[in-house]
Amino acid sequence: RVTLERSLRTLLEATAGHGTAAAAGGLAPCIEVPDEVGRLQLHWQPRIAIDGWQVIGAEALLRWHHGTLGSVPPSEFIPIAEESGLIEALGQQVLARACMEALRLPAHLQVSVNVSPIQLRRAHFADSVLQELHASGLPAERLELEITESVFIADATLPLRHLHQLRQCGVQVALDDFGTGYSSLAYLRRFPFDTLKIDRAFVRELMSRHDARAIVQTIIELARTLGMHTLAEGVEEPAQLQLLREAGCEAIQGWLVARPMPLDELRRLLANWRPLAPDAGRAPLSTA
Ligand code: C2E
Ligand code: MG
Ligand code: MG
Ligand code: MG
Repeated sequence: RVTLERSLRTLLEATAGHGTAAAAGGLAPCIEVPDEVGRLQLHWQPRIAIDGWQVIGAEALLRWHHGTLGSVPPSEFIPIAEESGLIEALGQQVLARACMEALRLPAHLQVSVNVSPIQLRRAHFADSVLQELHASGLPAERLELEITESVFIADATLPLRHLHQLRQCGVQVALDDFGTGYSSLAYLRRFPFDTLKIDRAFVRELMSRHDARAIVQTIIELARTLGMHTLAEGVEEPAQLQLLREAGCEAIQGWLVARPMPLDELRRLLANWRPLAPDAGRAPLSTA
């Protein structure tokens, strides 16, 4: 754990101080950093509209290939980055890189970036996002920030001010992992989220548990009432898709469609995309 923190710090320091564009290079395979700390890379997981089976966007998920430890999952290094204060620099690099890569995707696709609650508590968060959009030339409407309910555990005045400012500029905001936090419903009244992402925990139990099905149905109806879009994460099976469709869910993300993949792979997948749902009788070409 100490090793991971030291590696991450080295990796970020090796790419910091060169201004935004150069800092984004920390996620590129070409930047020179000490071998043992490896490299950071964005993977992209497409999201699909259930109705019409078109790709409507993709979520950026950070990957760390450590030189000696192999790949370290975000569930391990994000908390370390958060506790050590490195998340601010890391988050900024992710955002810069995501904006750059987004420009190499079709213009109708939205790109989602996960944001840590710690980032939202920095005084200049909103400004830094707008600066990154400006520097990259990505239209604000194409960027979606994913935040989690944990933002609301502490005083959320500053985070909400950031989110309101960004939303006024056209940036979209999604509530990630919805339903897993505490008293989730109260948060929906505090911010007009564009999208609710139904957590994988509910999707996983859709087939086996009636209460999961009831909860998902209720979340979707609630979102519709509040004018929010719905997206289910972690969809792995056609039967889950079928239940989500019946419940009126708008979009999905999950291994049923595709795993997170590097940008070039996503571009290839999009080039060969056929709007054919897996339960339409044939296997989807997209999972190849
Ligand atoms: P998340 O934002 O809820 O992302 C969804 C996670 O579910 C991802 O795990 C994704 O790879 C995984 N997933 C997607 N479809 C399926 C499926 O069908 N089945 C299963 N079993 N899993 C699926 P990943 O990439 O390991 O990321 C884990 C978490 O780490 C993310 O959860 C997010 O909270 C955090 N994270 C990842 N990248 C970043 C980042 O750049 N910044 C911040 N702050 N957090 C990040
Ligand atoms: Mg997410
Ligand atoms: Mg999620
Ligand atoms: Mg989740």
